[in-house]
Amino acid sequence: MPVTVYPWHQQQWREMLLRKTALPHALLFRGREGIGKFDFVRKLAQSLACESPAADGAACDACRSCRWFAAGSHPDYREILPAALRAADLQPAVADSDDSEQPAPGKRKPSQEIRVEEVRELQDFVNLTAHQRGSKTIVFYPAETLNVNAANALLKSLEEPPPSTRFMLVTHRPSYLPATIISRCQQVVLPTPPAASAEQWLREQGIAEPALSLAQTGNAPLAALTLDDGEFWAQRKALLGSLVGSNIDPLMLAEQVRDFPVGRLLGWLQRWTYDLLSAKAVGRVRYNPDFAQALTRISTRLRAADIARCHRALVRQQRSINHPLNARLFTEQLLLSYAALARGESPMGEHAG
Ligand SMILES: [Zn+2]
Repeated sequence: MPVTVYPWHQQQWREMLLRKTALPHALLFRGREGIGKFDFVRKLAQSLACESPAADGAACDACRSCRWFAAGSHPDYREILPAALRAADLQPAVADSDDSEQPAPGKRKPSQEIRVEEVRELQDFVNLTAHQRGSKTIVFYPAETLNVNAANALLKSLEEPPPSTRFMLVTHRPSYLPATIISRCQQVVLPTPPAASAEQWLREQGIAEPALSLAQTGNAPLAALTLDDGEFWAQRKALLGSLVGSNIDPLMLAEQVRDFPVGRLLGWLQRWTYDLLSAKAVGRVRYNPDFAQALTRISTRLRAADIARCHRALVRQQRSINHPLNARLFTEQLLLSYAALARGESPMGEHAG
């Protein structure tokens, strides 16, 4: 798939191209998840390395360097991602590459973090003479997944930058990054598009209900695009349809949703309680406009403080999501907690006094 700079990033794109020859050795690209930051940075790195760029500085997509980028094999370019994200990137069609890479049963799950070994291994890459015109680019994505040791190792490189090497950090959550790292990078903010243009773009991609998809993702168009699987919408409808009922049986509901991805379930419940609170406070919902009436009706018989407490408890569960000990038990707890709220009781796991 060719890498694109999206319409809502054109202004930042032109600014970067104008500064092409004067970019600092460390850049931090920040913005909401699912708006196209990684594509922006890949295209920028490609344009910096291009052998015959266009008049505006953008990559030609035809030279040897650009072809290497398209093949993911440029000798002066590296992307450092957590193993879990790299695994998600693998195409099933290339299974003939290396059988020893197949995860064995019982093998540890791929890491969600960028580890120190991965940063240290860059040393060889950095020390080798640059293949092309003397400039190397290393991208860290998402940079907030650097664990403490990896961040410290990177910090050393940022403090004493190796020659002809450029670091590009991409982050959805800059507040998770050490201030020492942030202070050594020049920051580039990539914006979330306005709702109308995001909606138009999604419609052009063939999305049937762009407004609803965008509401689910806080206006992030690429994140909205990934919701384009029938399963997401069918499961969401099944869950929210059950939450609308006046008498929720949490254990029976847990049985009904036992095959739903736990992360999605948690997200739906978080957005549902957010909307209950919003309906109660300002008479508007944000994430679930198609359930606005039901949300308003339910919110009128609940206390704002109870909704808020339940919502906070659900948000806290986010930390457990990468390794819930028992998915079924986890789901039951979430639903018990919500059912208690719907019955007008204080949610589980927190005491009112
Ligand atoms: Zn080129």
